[in-house]
Amino acid sequence: MSPFIAPGATLGVLGGGQLGRMFVHAAQEMGYSAAVLDPDASSPAGEVAQHHFEAAYLDEQGLARLAQRSAAVTTEFENVPAAALAALAALRPVSPAADAVAICQDRIAEKTHFVACGVPCAPHAAIETGAQLAAVGDDLLPGILKTARLGYDGKGQVRVKTRAELEAAWTALDRSPCVLEKMLPLAYEVSVIVARGADGETVHLPLQQNLHRDGILAVTQVPSPDLTSAVQQGAVDAAERIAAALRYVGVLCVEFFVLADGSVVANEMAPRPHNSGHYSIDACDVSQFELQVRTMTGAPLVAPRLHSPAVMLNLLGDLWFRDGDDAAVAPPWHDVLALPGVHLHLYGKVNARRGRKMGHLTVTAATPAEARATALRAAAALGLAPF
Ligand code: ATP
Ligand code: MG
Repeated sequence: MSPFIAPGATLGVLGGGQLGRMFVHAAQEMGYSAAVLDPDASSPAGEVAQHHFEAAYLDEQGLARLAQRSAAVTTEFENVPAAALAALAALRPVSPAADAVAICQDRIAEKTHFVACGVPCAPHAAIETGAQLAAVGDDLLPGILKTARLGYDGKGQVRVKTRAELEAAWTALDRSPCVLEKMLPLAYEVSVIVARGADGETVHLPLQQNLHRDGILAVTQVPSPDLTSAVQQGAVDAAERIAAALRYVGVLCVEFFVLADGSVVANEMAPRPHNSGHYSIDACDVSQFELQVRTMTGAPLVAPRLHSPAVMLNLLGDLWFRDGDDAAVAPPWHDVLALPGVHLHLYGKVNARRGRKMGHLTVTAATPAEARATALRAAAALGLAPF
């Protein structure tokens, strides 16, 4: 087992987005320094880390400088080239490992892994050739065509009802490798965030219930209002099996669909902290970012406890363009901050764009009903649809 990396050391992270920023904050709180590699001169994480290496993910010199500065390295960016992680792993402990990240980057490999772990996923077919497209069974329609790689926040996805729509959609996606998934009747969605140490010890956050709008996470509620104990157990067991079979070290999120009959179906996984776990910063005694620090430093893992019911609202760039103007106008933060239990998190992104994740807010309260009521008031003040 690798030795404990004590506070005072520098921890490296590949990627400078908001997940990296919140990781850096957690590391710094615990007395570590942070080093970020990101090509963007003003990335959310690069801005707050002690060291920022402005370099491309495959820049050998940049990677070497990150490794030299860091006692261990993690990633916050799912699509970091596996070759970058492999190059770093020759120099420093890297978690999660390149082979686990590579599986998460490819929907076909990901589904193959779920099935190998005995975890059901949506009926699907890989479409990499015209022959595979022609061979798709009608039972997969209506469905969703998803690019196998590089999709996120609903990008690279097309909903199709007929074969003609399927063919047009594949052409629109440049006939790149895709997966066609049957459209399932979802009762609700939950995610499980597990943290697994090098010794195999695994803990998880309380389960999140997630509402997506236009393929993007909009609202997370904890405790999940609809969760049954059977679904909870099935989802946690599945996530732990998926992590163990990857010999995973780090924080892993597995998203699940729960169908009307109570069955639990794995959707996808992310090899890093996840948007649906942001509530843990304000509502749990250990956040998902602290868990990331603990897994990479070999610190003990303790099971997080929810100390306040919470509702998280994502703040997309659309909120800056409420009046239909072309000019960005800041949302009414003053009104929102007047509500009890509101924790505002903005990621330091200078330019708001529609669909861009600018921040989130978490409402904590004494009861789930109160958290929901206050979150609905915050949503109304911001012009977000009720949930
Ligand atoms: P992200 O990376 O932000 O989680 P993504 O772009 O990878 O999103 P998915 O998680 O595949 O996208 O899908 C986004 C959402 O679309 C799901 O959370 C779910 O609400 C809906 N969805 C996806 N696949 C299906 C399906 N087979 N049946 C029904 N709904 C689906
Ligand atoms: Mg998803």
